[in-house]
Amino acid sequence: MEKFQLMALPYAPEALGPVISKETIAFHHGKHLAGYVNNLNGLLEGSPLSGLPLEEMVLKAERLRVGDGTSGMGGMLNNAGQILNHNLYFAQFAAPKADNKPIRKLAEAIVRDFGSFEAFKVEFQKKGATLFGSGWVWLSADKDGNLVITQEPNAANPIQKGLKPLLTFDVWEHAYYLDYQNRRPDHLAALWQIVDWAVIEQRYV
Ligand code: MN
Repeated sequence: MEKFQLMALPYAPEALGPVISKETIAFHHGKHLAGYVNNLNGLLEGSPLSGLPLEEMVLKAERLRVGDGTSGMGGMLNNAGQILNHNLYFAQFAAPKADNKPIRKLAEAIVRDFGSFEAFKVEFQKKGATLFGSGWVWLSADKDGNLVITQEPNAANPIQKGLKPLLTFDVWEHAYYLDYQNRRPDHLAALWQIVDWAVIEQRYV
């Protein structure tokens, strides 16, 4: 059986500092994400979902879980979902930049759908700060290219709502506690410096 691999980071572990420290990267990528990869590889042994891409695995595990409540599918859904989420999350950052902002078509769509980049940031941070417990705040596109912000609990991904995920901030405590402790809003506000808008734009167009 082909195993899932821990994604390689497209930057050095210290490159996102001080917004995200190399210590946080070491735990978040090297321990938490690696743990989800190991869990999923274990669950997939002998599973009918083995060999599927992550997106299909998430959608299928969700349907099977709803259909028959098969034990193991819940674990599959959570671990595959967390790998999908974290692969998108870690791939979307670059070294901090002053005056970092969206580009081209995505910049236009943000102004069209939220009024301004500033208004979008306020709304996105608010949704991240008010998500109760663990989860993710997402910017996604619907099938017509309209932009939406959603809160997703635990390991959920917007593909489960038929949306195309573009940008996400992880609000699990493991994403920020070493650097920001309980100050989740401060962490969210700082993340704008490291968003690689070229990556987000590629996901949109
Ligand atoms: Mn995480």
